[in-house]
Amino acid sequence: MPDASRTPAHETIANREPASGRPLRPVAVATPEDVRRAVERARRAQAQWARLSWGERKARLLAFRDRLLDRAEDVIETVSRETGKPRFEARVHEVIPIADLAHYFATRAERFLRDRPVHHHLFWPYKRGYVRYEPRGVVGIVSPWNFPFTLPMGDVIMALAARNAVVVKPSEWTPHSMLIARDLLAEARIDPDLVGVVCGAGPTGAALVDEVDMVVFTGSVSTGRKIAARCGERLIPSIMELGGKDAAIVLPDADIEHAARKVVTGAFANSGQICASIERCLVHEALYERFCDAVVRITAALRQGDPSESDEIDVGAMVTPHQVEIVRRHIDDAVVKGARILTGGKVHTERGRFVEPTVLVDVTDDMLCWSEETFGPLLPIRPYGDVDEAVRMANDTIYGLNAYVFGGSVSKAEDVANRLEAGAVLVNDVLYNHGAPEAPWGGWKASGVGRVHNGKDGLRDLCEMRYVGLPRGRLEVPTTFPYTRRKEAFFERIAGLLRSPFSRFL
Ligand code: NAD
Repeated sequence: MPDASRTPAHETIANREPASGRPLRPVAVATPEDVRRAVERARRAQAQWARLSWGERKARLLAFRDRLLDRAEDVIETVSRETGKPRFEARVHEVIPIADLAHYFATRAERFLRDRPVHHHLFWPYKRGYVRYEPRGVVGIVSPWNFPFTLPMGDVIMALAARNAVVVKPSEWTPHSMLIARDLLAEARIDPDLVGVVCGAGPTGAALVDEVDMVVFTGSVSTGRKIAARCGERLIPSIMELGGKDAAIVLPDADIEHAARKVVTGAFANSGQICASIERCLVHEALYERFCDAVVRITAALRQGDPSESDEIDVGAMVTPHQVEIVRRHIDDAVVKGARILTGGKVHTERGRFVEPTVLVDVTDDMLCWSEETFGPLLPIRPYGDVDEAVRMANDTIYGLNAYVFGGSVSKAEDVANRLEAGAVLVNDVLYNHGAPEAPWGGWKASGVGRVHNGKDGLRDLCEMRYVGLPRGRLEVPTTFPYTRRKEAFFERIAGLLRSPFSRFL
């Protein structure tokens, strides 16, 4: 929890820049009453928003896209200062994907949410029907600190495109990125009440979950469990985007240089603070030594530092002291149990907080860095003998978010990809799928429940649906009282068609 201090009216959160230690502007913590009022205002604004024409909503979401591109430097500055990430990452991982996602859903929402006809068969061909997608109301969005702009804003834009209102609870470590996002939305003539922002830690998030009509949560498994349980009690839908321990498998025919460069990026981008980071690398024994050499050479050349001092930085700071301690514990535990550090391994907290990109070998199953989510710049590499063994090792985890396969033959790599228990498997690449709003984002097993992005299906998930059934003519099947043997026989005859030569037309 960041430093919190009491003022007469409100507690405040006062953070420091992770890369330099300079203080950031304090923000007020929302009380449960503030949260309740924000949801109430959002509910009123939603009714107006849903009444606008599709064209008007599209125009405002596109105006947001343009404001974001106009003011990209301000957003990059805010995100980079409060996370310590390189400006490149703030631009390429946060600003540009949200401009694109806003464009994607703004220009397609009307088509994606058009009434869907239901084509009836067997007993009901004399009926016609359709599904209409209606907004759910107020969607509560609870977000983590690793991508403080792109994660909440992807959910915000999708929820708005589906005609909902939102109230966002950004991470207590990174509230400013969402506050600047709210300003940009207001500049695009999106009613400020439609997009509430309530700052604070867990209790503020819990108060939000108690008020809204749906929750989209991104964060840890332990918090996800609590929120999902509460949503279960309230019988409201939720989407859970949780942790990961993603594996990369390097096949014997892989291009070593290409795979090594991608794996290093997949492990150390955002200082490893990505739910889809590569945290377990499995390399065929025939190329293990050469692959490790390439990874060490590329990693040792990475430039780490304070992004406010230079644009030529590859790896930035760690957002929270707690996360630094987890990474330190995983390194120490591995070394005590016999792992070797090939490069990196040091933690620097003299000014800001930095963990050197670290490559570990001689890793075993019992080490924390192999079994638990690290969420930091730590890459354990292990050799395997045959592909079945690699698949078994990759699947041997409670998580299943992303996975990665590298191989010279794309079709062989694809075969391996389809044996992995993960929400997405990328062949010969890393991480890009979060930037593709048409692709489903989400995990198997403890990595989550439900999907975000996901094109048409993602937008529909943010809606309630109503089936409307209509008569086609005057024809009826005999379901009404009084029940008679004759009526029953009619159903028996129709059901008989299921096993007849006609069944293939049903
Ligand atoms: P966290 O679970 O500690 O916090 C996430 C958010 O939940 C914060 O805003 C926090 O204030 C809030 N919160 C905490 N307790 C709450 C409660 N009881 N009720 C309501 N809200 C509560 O996670 P974190 O440390 O901020 O983020 C790191 C985690 O997020 C990692 O496990 C990472 O893998 C995961 N993550 C997942 C994805 C994904 O898309 N699957 C993306 C990014 C991060």
